Amino acid sequence: MAIVEPIESTGGARRLRVSSPVTRETIGEIAVTSPAEVRAAVQRARAAQPAWAAAGFGERARVMRRALKILIRRQEEFIDVLVRETGRSRMETIMMEIFASCDSLAYHAKHAEKILADQKKPLHLLRTKRLVITYRPLGVIGVITPWNGPFVLALNPSVQAMMAGNAVVVKPSEVTPLAGRLLTELFREAALPEGVLTVLEGDGETGAALVEAGVDKISFTGSVRTGRKVGEACGRNLIPCTLELGGKDPMIVCADADLERAAGGAVFGAFMNTGQYCCSTERVYVVEPVAAEFTRRVVDKVRALRQGKEGEFDLGPMIWPNQLDVIESHVEDARSKGATVVTGGRRSPTLGNMFYEATVLTDVTHDMRIMREETFGPILPILRVKDEEEAIRLANDSTYGLSANVWTRSDARAMALARRLESGSICINDAAVTYGALEAPFGGRKASGVGQVNGETGLRGYCYATPVIFDRFGPKEEQVWYPYTAAKGQLLQKIIKWVWGTPLGDLLG
Ligand code: NAD
Repeated sequence: MAIVEPIESTGGARRLRVSSPVTRETIGEIAVTSPAEVRAAVQRARAAQPAWAAAGFGERARVMRRALKILIRRQEEFIDVLVRETGRSRMETIMMEIFASCDSLAYHAKHAEKILADQKKPLHLLRTKRLVITYRPLGVIGVITPWNGPFVLALNPSVQAMMAGNAVVVKPSEVTPLAGRLLTELFREAALPEGVLTVLEGDGETGAALVEAGVDKISFTGSVRTGRKVGEACGRNLIPCTLELGGKDPMIVCADADLERAAGGAVFGAFMNTGQYCCSTERVYVVEPVAAEFTRRVVDKVRALRQGKEGEFDLGPMIWPNQLDVIESHVEDARSKGATVVTGGRRSPTLGNMFYEATVLTDVTHDMRIMREETFGPILPILRVKDEEEAIRLANDSTYGLSANVWTRSDARAMALARRLESGSICINDAAVTYGALEAPFGGRKASGVGQVNGETGLRGYCYATPVIFDRFGPKEEQVWYPYTAAKGQLLQKIIKWVWGTPLGDLLG
């Protein structure tokens, strides 16, 4: 059982067959792009990039706005393809892929110029100089993406990189290649100049070849295991990378939380995209006084979820069969160590093998894999804790640190807890919204990643921040130029004493 499987081929490129996670019917085939073809694509991108950078923000924004209009006009068609490839509900596809992609195109078309404008900075010491920081494109960006948000996770970094004046070469997941084709189609119709965006089909071999193909940065989204390899290869090639990796997001429910909202947020946070979301809520710590009531409300809501394949439904199938093995082994491990499966805990008996039921576990402990390893499926383990101190200690007792959510009516308590969470981002009284807040830098701590996408930091990460320093007054020479004399040395020593040794110097320095 595999959604993507090799096809017997004699000579030529390796070929893979991709089939629907719902019907198992073949929905497409891809030819794996060879390392030589990857290098050629990067060279074409490099040739196209200078003209694209020279076209300026106005022209680049016009292309993004054209793409936006096309996406709005053709959305039904795009939704159909994405639903067929992932089995997700239409509503979820609209929310996760189309809505978020429209926002990325519009936001970056509108704001990139301002965020990447030259910055004039006063100098605290060298008052006779003037500093301007310019944000220059890096050149060619390699974008490598996963299967769980196949369209938006390829589009969003590409839009940012292109708005910054770069060319991009994208390697989407082999599990969801149709989404990559949509990206090509969208920008072709938007009349993006040839070579500025290239989508390469292929598997890990193609991704690895892209990292080695002479790109100027890699923007990688995927698992910790692959991210580590990509990071190592980038280190060897001395190119920067952002690594957006897996998570084991904790949720903390305080005694003063709005329990109805918290229960709804737990269910949405854990089961959105059938749990195949990097920022899924994967473990809950609820304080003792409200634990029973919170759990009761969660279980009621989970039992009301509709899992299906057509019409209106909430949960779809797993997109990638291998993930089912992980889910089952985590649930079995928990069960064997004493966890209670309150609801779910099995593949759907009616919908087929790729559908795992929405599952709630209680009586879990921190030595269970379900509390420590990324499950990436529709499982919500709930652990009762004595107080917030214990919740924070357990939330931080993880190799991951992608995002977290805290539920309380007190902003002060929320902020105090947020400051102590070892997490790339934190939501208060909500879950899974940070990636959609384009102003917010998004990234992971610990094994959840390196660097950030989105926000000013993310956009500027596709640039080289180049300081340009002007001399303001143009004297014939500077104090520190040749010839070196004892008198010049003594003057510098006086300056040291004055600037860092007197209150007035401290004030002006
Ligand atoms: P994956 O690491 O298996 O694959 C990701 C991409 O890397 C694919 O395109 C794959 O072909 C490619 N690849 C494989 N081997 C490679 C190599 N040696 N060099 C370069 N590229 C290679 O991940 P996946 O299973 O597709 O995605 C699921 C994972 O992604 C989960 O762990 C999830 O948490 C994570 N994820 C993280 C974020 C985030 O923003 N932090 C977002 C979505 C998904």
